[in-house]
Amino acid sequence: MNSSTYEPPGPEGSGVEQVVVIGAGQAGLAVSHELSELGVDHVVLERARVGQSWRDRWDSFCLVTPNWTMSLPGFPYAGDDPEGFVPRDGIVAYLERYASSLTAPVRDGVGVDSLEPGSKSRFLLRTSAGDVEAESVVVCTGAFQRPYRPDAAAAFPPGLLVIDAVGYRNPAALPPGKVLVIGSGQTGCQISEELHEAGREVFLACGRAPWVPRQAGGRDIVSWLRETTFFDMSVDALPSPAARLGANVQVTGARGGHDLNYRTLQTMGVQLLGRLTGVEGRRARFADDLADSVAFGDARYAEIRAALSKQLPAMGMPVPELPDPPPFRADPPRELDLDGFGAVICTTGFRPDYTRWVRFPAVVDAMGFPLIHDDASTVVPGLYFCGVHFLRKRKSSTLFGVGEDAAIVARSIARNRSELAAAH
Ligand SMILES: Cc1cc2nc3c(=O)[nH]c(=O)nc-3n(C[C@H](O)[C@H](O)[C@H](O)COP(=O)(O)OP(=O)(O)OC[C@H]3O[C@@H](n4cnc5c(N)ncnc54)[C@H](O)[C@@H]3O)c2cc1C
Repeated sequence: MNSSTYEPPGPEGSGVEQVVVIGAGQAGLAVSHELSELGVDHVVLERARVGQSWRDRWDSFCLVTPNWTMSLPGFPYAGDDPEGFVPRDGIVAYLERYASSLTAPVRDGVGVDSLEPGSKSRFLLRTSAGDVEAESVVVCTGAFQRPYRPDAAAAFPPGLLVIDAVGYRNPAALPPGKVLVIGSGQTGCQISEELHEAGREVFLACGRAPWVPRQAGGRDIVSWLRETTFFDMSVDALPSPAARLGANVQVTGARGGHDLNYRTLQTMGVQLLGRLTGVEGRRARFADDLADSVAFGDARYAEIRAALSKQLPAMGMPVPELPDPPPFRADPPRELDLDGFGAVICTTGFRPDYTRWVRFPAVVDAMGFPLIHDDASTVVPGLYFCGVHFLRKRKSSTLFGVGEDAAIVARSIARNRSELAAAH
């Protein structure tokens, strides 16, 4: 890796980068690795530092998938705890080591403000280091980009701290008082648990999320699911394209990994609520849908169990015992008086953010997700995306799945470049 200051190629050089990869998270680094393997010159531009999104996660964050999933192209997990869960800094260290092993330059501190049509069918990147032209561009700016807040969360009274998950660091950094967490995906569950253990009174407004036990038959659930088609599912296999925005399975890697879901949180003393429907003055209101949300999670768990029971024997593997969900009973309040609350944390997911700065028509769908062909190309020749949730498969946005997409993107770029060279 060469992370010296970036000087965009000027008129004395060719003036043009062959390929610019935007973003040095796992997706950008994996694409860089694959391009180098194919001998394609490129540069990686990163607005902050390698692995910035992982650095930005809260202090106690641990990998949710097991350590073996830190397995980027040419850089498999080499530690001695493949079924453990490294803390945040361990993930960053892995990505830094990966970046150091790459041959192409990774330029930290260079943000791309816009991507536009340039001269001669090239791309014009307006960056914090100046304008750059490129023949091809791979956008790797994050699987989970812009924090999303439901409209109902817009009217909290002034003076009450309202933050997104990216603004959360640790319990001590919050003002004193009760905490309302909105959103019961992995992040909301993990932050609720941490705050409860720190002695806070925690209220969790729940939405719909699947859940799974952390372990089954002495093995991590992610390791079992990897044996099935679960992570290879494409968006077409989902009930609707909007299902891409649904929560990932409730489970945690904190403290060695354990079950963490509606039921475990309720048992420990977190007050579960229905969805937030609105705030009026100092009163927050919630839907009468907690039981429905838990039933939704149980139904997804039943589907996962059924898939394991069907697919594992077909591969000659044993089916681990998976428990029935225990009964769930709750009679949550429909209204909360916000007096005594110190903070509200919105853990309500993310939305794509490309349309703000990628100035090409028809490259994303109505929800803002990139539209790609089978070879990962887009309608704009030379423009690619990688690291997007469900880009090709469910695993496209994961540490262990992005490499497959990165290889396809790199092969497509190399092929197009050699076809162009042959035509001239
Ligand atoms: C809370 C949370 C927990 C997760 N846990 C797991 C897990 O346990 N296992 C797993 O496999 N996956 C997990 N994921 C999913 C996924 O692995 C991560 O989201 C991962 O960070 C995605 O990598 P990426 O390279 O696609 O994007 P990012 O890591 O977000 O990297 C994008 C990079 O692009 C840079 N960038 C953005 N815009 C610009 C710009 N305009 N110009 C220049 N640079 C730019 C950013 O600074 C960043 O460094 C988790 C996701 C979240 C949100």
